Amino acid sequence: MEYQWIKNKRYKNVSLRIKDGQIIVTSPVQTSKEFVDTFVNQHTHWIQKQLAAYEAIPRIRPGMTLFILERPYKVVMGDVCAINLDKETITIDGNEKHWQVLLKEIAQNQITPRFHQWEQAMGYSNLTIRYGYYASKWGSCRKDMGVIALSTKLLFVDWEEVDSVIVHELCHMKYPNHSQAFYQEVLDWMPNYWEVHKHLIHHCIPVLEKKG
Ligand SMILES: [Zn+2]
Repeated sequence: MEYQWIKNKRYKNVSLRIKDGQIIVTSPVQTSKEFVDTFVNQHTHWIQKQLAAYEAIPRIRPGMTLFILERPYKVVMGDVCAINLDKETITIDGNEKHWQVLLKEIAQNQITPRFHQWEQAMGYSNLTIRYGYYASKWGSCRKDMGVIALSTKLLFVDWEEVDSVIVHELCHMKYPNHSQAFYQEVLDWMPNYWEVHKHLIHHCIPVLEKKG
């Protein structure tokens, strides 16, 4: 198995990770090639599982149909990254930064009104909403600052699943923990929360195809 090997005197142990479909081994400077080879071979099963998961991530590329909040859009290549609601097209320029900016803009236009509906219904006001691409979470809540952050990954799931994250984060304004009382509050607002959550966490979020 081919891998990238990074030696550094700061590293105390040999460790293994998968980044962008590449196997990366980090080790202390004195580690031998034999040791690393054996180490990698011992983890073949884990590596193959990780690589398969990476391969399974849908890539956003021209010609495909991309669902944004349950609506289908045709993906086309162009000079600017943009969404056209009337023509139901999304233009990509292959630039990851531009793509992230566009996702934040779409989330701001489409998810924020929904957020304010829930905010009002649940008796809150003047909360600040922020968006970002958070790889390992759907949202977060800073009760003291009145700030709720939502991941732009939510654009690729269904509305009901977006609701489940909004409700979850808004309930943190009352309970800044995951106590039983917190989940009771969540279930009071969304009785099928767990059912929806189960679907949410199994979504494969598409990513922009890397150039080159
Ligand atoms: Zn939480």
